[in-house]
Amino acid sequence: MDLKSFHRRSIEDRGGFWAEQAGLIEWHKPFAAVLDYSRPPFARWFVGGETNLCHNAIDRHLLTQPDAPALHFVSTETGEERSYSFAELYREVVRMAAIMLAQGVGRGDRVLIYMPMIPEAAFAMLACARIGAIHSVVFGGFASRSLASRIDDARPSLIVSADAGSRNGRVIAYKPLLDEAISLCAHKPERVLMVDRGLAPFASVPGRDLGYAALREEHLDADIPVTWLESNEVSYTLYTSGTTGNPKGVQRDVGGYAVALAASMKHIFCGNPGETYFCTSDIGWVVGHSYIVYGPLIAGMATILYEGTPIRPDAGILWRLVERHRVSVMFSAPTAIRVLKKQDPAWLTKYDTSSLRALFLAGEPLDEPTARWISEGLGRPIVDNYWQTETGWPILTVAHGIEKTPTRFGSPGMAMYGYDVRLLHEQTGEEVAANQKGVVAIEPPLPPGCMQTIWGDDERFVKTYFETIPGRLVYSTFDWGIRDPDGYYFILGRTDDVINVAGHRLGTREIEESLSSHEALAECAVVGVADQLKGQVAVAFAVLKDPARAGTPEARQALEGELMAIVDRQLGAVARPARVHFVGMLPKTRSGKVLRRSIQAICERRDPGDLTTIEDASALDQVRDALAS
Ligand code: AMP
Repeated sequence: MDLKSFHRRSIEDRGGFWAEQAGLIEWHKPFAAVLDYSRPPFARWFVGGETNLCHNAIDRHLLTQPDAPALHFVSTETGEERSYSFAELYREVVRMAAIMLAQGVGRGDRVLIYMPMIPEAAFAMLACARIGAIHSVVFGGFASRSLASRIDDARPSLIVSADAGSRNGRVIAYKPLLDEAISLCAHKPERVLMVDRGLAPFASVPGRDLGYAALREEHLDADIPVTWLESNEVSYTLYTSGTTGNPKGVQRDVGGYAVALAASMKHIFCGNPGETYFCTSDIGWVVGHSYIVYGPLIAGMATILYEGTPIRPDAGILWRLVERHRVSVMFSAPTAIRVLKKQDPAWLTKYDTSSLRALFLAGEPLDEPTARWISEGLGRPIVDNYWQTETGWPILTVAHGIEKTPTRFGSPGMAMYGYDVRLLHEQTGEEVAANQKGVVAIEPPLPPGCMQTIWGDDERFVKTYFETIPGRLVYSTFDWGIRDPDGYYFILGRTDDVINVAGHRLGTREIEESLSSHEALAECAVVGVADQLKGQVAVAFAVLKDPARAGTPEARQALEGELMAIVDRQLGAVARPARVHFVGMLPKTRSGKVLRRSIQAICERRDPGDLTTIEDASALDQVRDALAS
C-alpha cells in the first residue's frame, strides 16, 4: 500500500485502522471500543481493554526469546558494560517492582525517577509499568529548582535516584541536588531509593533514604505478576516546557502508547525482533522513553543504554558500538552529528556499520549541510522525524515499512498515519495554501500514544493546546511550517517562547525566573539565538536595579558569572545562557509586553519586524550596543 492511502485510511476509518494496529501488542482483555471521543478534545483509546507495558516489553518475549539480549549498558564515562537478556531483565525488573511494592507504592502512585543513564533507571521505569505506578522521569541534567517544581506537581511517594552521573569525565553528584530540591518542596516524598554507583559519597537521611543494593538482595527471588491496567490508566508523566515558567506534566496512557510504539517500530523504524536498536538520547526526554526503553523492547529488540558523549574516548565511539552490537536501527539528534562534523570524517568509515539500515534524527531542525555530511559519510539513509514530548512518536517523517518514499533534505517528511495535520493561519484559523507558512496543527482526536491531558489540569490542557487558533478546536504544535505540493513539510521554528538548545527543549520564562532571583536584577528577557553547533543558545538581557553594579568590564563579567551560576544551580547547566548582556531597559510594547522576537532578530542580525507598538525604540539600540560591546 502507498503511504498516502495508508494515511487516508487512518483518518477516515480510525476504528478499523487502529483495531488492526492493536493486534501488534498483547491484551489481557480485549477492548470494547477502539475510540471514545464523546468529550472532545479528550480521546480515550481502546476503551475497556486491559494490557501492560512491562508485559509487552518483557514478559511476552520470555516465551519466544528469553536468552536474546534485551539491554546493553555501555558507559564510556566509567568504563562499565553490562548486558541483560530478556530473562535477566525480567528478573531485575521484578526485583525493583518488589522493592517498590514493599515500600507501599501501588497502582496510580507516582514514582519520580532522577537518574543518570544506568540500567537501574530502565528497571525502575519498567517496574512502575509492571505494578501500575506512574513514573515521572526528570532529566539528570536538571538541578534543584527544576526538580522541586516537578516533585511538587507529581507528588511522588517514592523517588528513585543515584549518587551521581558523569559527563565528559566529570562526576555530577545528584544527591545534594535532590536533597536541596526536597528541602524546597511543599510535598515531601516518604522514601528515596538510592542506587550507589560509588562515584560520589553521600549522606543518607535516616528513615527516608533506602539503599538499592541491600533491598535488591532481599528480593532476589521475588515473583511479582503484572498488574493488568485498563488502556486509559496513566503510564507516566513527563514534564516539558511551555510559555509559562510552570512545566507541564505531559500525561500518557497505557494501551494507546503501547500500540502507537509497536506500530511505529514496524512502519517507521522497521525494527525486527532479535536486532539491536541504538538511541543516543537520554531517559529524561521523550525520545528516551519511547525509543530507548519501551519501543525497542516492545518490538523484541535489544536496546543500547549509553552513558557518554559522541566523541569520548574518540569520535568513533558511536560507530564502534554499531559494529559491536550489529545495530540495525539508530536514533540520534542533529546536534550530535554537528559535533561529529567537527571531527575527522574518517571515523565514519573506520568501523563496519553495514548492519545499520537507517539513522533517524529528531529533536530539532536538521540542517541540510549536516544531513548531507552524515548521509554521504556514512552511506546510509538518514531519516529526519519531527514530533514532540506531547505526541510521543513521530508526527512527520517517512514510513519505509509502508512505502519507500524518498526523503528530502530540509524536510522531516510527510504526515504520519493517525495524524490529521493541518497548516493554519495563525489569526483566521483558515488552512493555508501549498508553500504558505502556517501553524502546524492537528485536527483532533490525537492518535494513540499522544498525551491524554496535562497531569492534574484538564483545563490547562484544553486552553494551552486547543484554544490558540481562533474559531477552531484544534491541537497546536506551536511550530511554524510549510508544505510543498507533494505533501512534504518544512518546520520553520516555534511560535511560542520555547527554545531548543542542542535538542533540549527549554522555556525562556523558566530561565528568566531563575535569573530574576538574583538580588541585583530588576528584570530580564531571555531569547533563543541561532547557533552553528547547538541549533540555538539562550541569550539573556538584564536590567539592573543599580546600573553602577555593571559599571566596569570586570564588574560586568563578575555579575554575568554570578547569574550563570544561579541558573546552573537552580535549573542545571543545560539551561545556562551563553551570554548575559546588561541594558538600561528592555524593548517593550506600550502595553508592557517584552518584544522577545525583536530582541532575537537583532541578535541574529535580522530585521526586528513590526515595531508599531514599541514603547521606546531606543531600547533596541541598547540591545545592539550591548551585543557590540
Ligand atoms: P520536545 O518536546 O523536547 O521533543 O521538543 C519538540 C520540539 O522540537 C518541536 O515542537 C519542534 O520545535 C522541535 N523539533 C523536534 N523534532 C524536530 C525536527 N525533526 N525538525 C524540526 N524541529 C523539530
